[in-house]
Amino acid sequence: MEIIRNIKVLQNSLKTERMRGRAIGFVPTMGALHDGHMSLIRTARLENDILIASIFLNPIQFGPSEDFEKYPKDMDGDISKLRGADVDMAFLPDASAMYPEGFSTAVDVRGLSEKLCGGLRPGHFTGVATVIAKLFNIVGPERAYFGQKDYQQGLIIKKLVRDLNMDINVVLCPTRREPDGLAMSSRNLRLGADERKAAAALYMSLSFALEKIKSGILNVREVKGLIKGILSHEPLITDIEYASVYDAESLDELDEITGRAVLAAAVRIGDVRLIDNIPVEGLQNPAKKG
Ligand code: AMP
Repeated sequence: MEIIRNIKVLQNSLKTERMRGRAIGFVPTMGALHDGHMSLIRTARLENDILIASIFLNPIQFGPSEDFEKYPKDMDGDISKLRGADVDMAFLPDASAMYPEGFSTAVDVRGLSEKLCGGLRPGHFTGVATVIAKLFNIVGPERAYFGQKDYQQGLIIKKLVRDLNMDINVVLCPTRREPDGLAMSSRNLRLGADERKAAAALYMSLSFALEKIKSGILNVREVKGLIKGILSHEPLITDIEYASVYDAESLDELDEITGRAVLAAAVRIGDVRLIDNIPVEGLQNPAKKG
């Protein structure tokens, strides 16, 4: 595995690979790699000739009071995981190379970026869309892999690619979970033992709500009450930022579940913010029920 920090060096090697007709797969990450990241890498490895993974803790997607400084880091462990997964090139740029003095462009996927997490983390998705647009321009992948764990981010990146006519196939991969259901996340490392136990309530609340939806409860106020009932029962969950059922494409909160939807929630446990979601699909004629 080549470790590349320099943008021009990466662009030049990939130009050569592209001229040879090789399909390039790309997995962008912020590091502290866990099996969620590795599942994307495994899928990408199977579907491409050349596999690039990036590790870049993107400063511009963190607000001033967020956990940029405290975000878990494990560069040596990450590099050996990437090596073990047969990645061809690890791209590890510095913030000063990505955002040199005078950098002044922002990519804003308006509408979707202001909803859910975007409403609570102003500027977050502009930071995400900007770095992903840069990484896509640097790597020029045929396919890029993202996790459904970050559902809103996936929608925004798909929209970015469509709106800017990027010739990239965005592949969304299923959420990998711990045995108690908690979605794997680098931020889980910031939880103390009791907090880690409490965090299981997040997935539990959403999967309980999914069962209720499947059994015919399609009124969102009712479903929301069930989710919040479980979350608020857990004293270590200090804040429920949002928890409800949203349209799967627009992310508008629904009144009634009548088609493709997503159950999504964001909570705080101490100063750790956790998100999760479950798609609601394949309901039998939901509009005719209840
Ligand atoms: P991050 O390093 O948190 O920016 O994540 C890098 C990529 O891994 C993103 O596309 C995430 O959606 C994805 N990812 C993070 N956690 C998981 C998970 N538990 N299962 C699947 N994909 C994940």
